[in-house]
Amino acid sequence: MHEFSIALGIIEIAEENARKADAKVIHEIEIEVGTLSGVMTDALKNALEVAVENTILKNTKRTFLELQAKGRCESCSCEFELNGYMTPCPTCQGFNFDIIQGQELRVKSLSVD
Ligand SMILES: [Zn+2]
Repeated sequence: MHEFSIALGIIEIAEENARKADAKVIHEIEIEVGTLSGVMTDALKNALEVAVENTILKNTKRTFLELQAKGRCESCSCEFELNGYMTPCPTCQGFNFDIIQGQELRVKSLSVD
């Protein structure tokens, strides 16, 4: 059900933006899902499939962009791909890093008329 409430949030964002732009149709929506966002893209796709019924997004093309998580090591400033929160820095094997990408879950763009 986690993904379903996220789907409803996405529809809300889309409807609000369509209203602001005075748009009748949304052709395409791009949704960015970080690999560490805690959301399964497939589950979100399925949830949206159901949730868009009778909304402005019903006939909208939905594009999902997966964002590979990345970290920046605090010790050696190396940037590397994260496959989880316990990925060590490949250069110095340290575990002190900032997550610089991959926790996002957001509507990246809407194409409206
Ligand atoms: Zn390092």
